[in-house]
Amino acid sequence: MRVAIQGTRGAFSEAAARLQWPDMETVSCREVGDVVTAVREGRAEAGCLAIENTLVGSVTPTYDLLQYAFGDGDLHLSREIRLPVHHSIMGLAGARLDQITKVLSHPVALGQCRIWLGRQLPNVTLVNAWDTAGSAEIVAREADPTQAAICARHAADAYGLTVIEDRIEDDPTNQTRFLTFTAQPAGGPVDESIPRKTSLIVWTDHRPGMLAAVLQAFAARGVNLTSLQSRPERSTPWTYRFYFDVEGGSEDPRLAEALESIEALASRIVILGSYTAWQGEGAVVSQAAPRPPHLRAKPDLPLFDRRQHPAGTVVTVGSVQIGGDRPVIIAGPCSVESQEMILQTAQAVAASGADMLRGGAFKPRTSPYDFQGLGAKGLKLLAEAREQTGLPVVTEVMGWEEVPLVARYADMLQIGARNMQNFALLRAAGRSGKPILLKRGGGATIEEWLHAAEYILSSGNPNVVLCERGIRTFERATRHTLDLNAVALVRERTHLPVLADPSHAAGVRSIVPALALAGLAAGAQGVIVEVHPDPDHAMSDGDQSLDFRAFAELAARIRGSAPVMPRSGSPAPVTIA
Ligand code: PEP
Ligand code: MN
Repeated sequence: MRVAIQGTRGAFSEAAARLQWPDMETVSCREVGDVVTAVREGRAEAGCLAIENTLVGSVTPTYDLLQYAFGDGDLHLSREIRLPVHHSIMGLAGARLDQITKVLSHPVALGQCRIWLGRQLPNVTLVNAWDTAGSAEIVAREADPTQAAICARHAADAYGLTVIEDRIEDDPTNQTRFLTFTAQPAGGPVDESIPRKTSLIVWTDHRPGMLAAVLQAFAARGVNLTSLQSRPERSTPWTYRFYFDVEGGSEDPRLAEALESIEALASRIVILGSYTAWQGEGAVVSQAAPRPPHLRAKPDLPLFDRRQHPAGTVVTVGSVQIGGDRPVIIAGPCSVESQEMILQTAQAVAASGADMLRGGAFKPRTSPYDFQGLGAKGLKLLAEAREQTGLPVVTEVMGWEEVPLVARYADMLQIGARNMQNFALLRAAGRSGKPILLKRGGGATIEEWLHAAEYILSSGNPNVVLCERGIRTFERATRHTLDLNAVALVRERTHLPVLADPSHAAGVRSIVPALALAGLAAGAQGVIVEVHPDPDHAMSDGDQSLDFRAFAELAARIRGSAPVMPRSGSPAPVTIA
């Protein structure tokens, strides 16, 4: 096997390529472009290119070559290789540091030894050579005792030089990443158990949000990005192309879908290819997202079905268990309004026996002119309230793009009634790794509600808690009607824990305690209740919010009453439509 590398015998590219092809014959090339040409012209069967270094960053000549090399599909990316890079300084036999006036190496290698050179040899002339090992060869050939080379230690033996000092790189973790490629395609089926990566170049229109939209095409499908680099477009000043490396092969259905959507969105896309990701030391084995449910075999029973876990599922949030014998009490304001009010409310509900704190930072409001919540600031205040009281926090997330933000601060994510069938949000919740509180839509059937839960479960998240919060009926005297039938029936049909939200069902605070107790009597395994320090002046849902005293009385009654109603009867089968 002849493998083209930039550099000569003893170069780091050679050491990298040898990890893949131990018996290779080295075809030495002067420039990275020559490596590609050598393989194209049949002087080598494969090539190896340095693409990135952990100390100095991207190897820009390689980036600038990628489209020319791999954009036509005649050469095939093969593997990603990471090589620890340790540099030594070497000179003629007997050379001493104080004699050296000139140091030669590849500019990238000189860049990796800047600190040592600055300290030890502040006055020497640094000379850019075409290659690290090539600089050792020059020092040996010119036999000038005032010259030294920086390269890999083993090059000293190859060129008969003496090592003056070892491991002079700026950081001991120094590594370079290489891409290997071949003239022939790999052939044979792709082994799905071996992690792959895909590289591509994207050009976007110069309009707000275009790059974000490309990133979102990956994010929405749970595709992990490992590198993003921009390079100037040479013939069109001040415009850029973007290089992406993502996890997964282009045959992975999630990535294929993302690429299709980017193709439709971007002004241009070039897929450079898919290749085997580095699997040696330091490899990050990120959990591959499961195949999309519609491309998997349909389960015999829906994942939510009680028969999947006849004993019932207990969802743990912090130290709180939802779905056990003890009813869970979640309390707090509709919206986080200020630091003072959330801390005061958190302290009050904790003192009265609440298990968790609720509070909205992102609020779904009927009118766009109403208070929309404090957003990210509200999340930070909720985290502060958790610090002070120890109560885990549940808060609403309204859009799939905000899942990572909300998940960073909250212990549990709430999907609100208005978003119960926001499928992109349900999928993102499934990937979030956080327990989900899924409220029933005001106009949703039990069947629709359970299938919304199935979206989250089938995206890989088993921690779903259902919450009945009232449905729209002909009755206008209350905001909604708490559907106790649904509470009792859903307890039979699913193993997932079920809560009742009497506040949004009632809309008026006087009947909230009665509905809370009724929900528990129907089988709810806990309640979520709105509580405000001054309900008449709340910025949202004041009419249905309890003050601290009314909440304390309700909590005492719940704690004094019987444990959660056992589930009764055998479940009627639910089929996935
Ligand atoms: C809330 O919990 O404040 C809320 C908006 O709930 P729902 O989605 O049930 O209306
Ligand atoms: Mn509310």
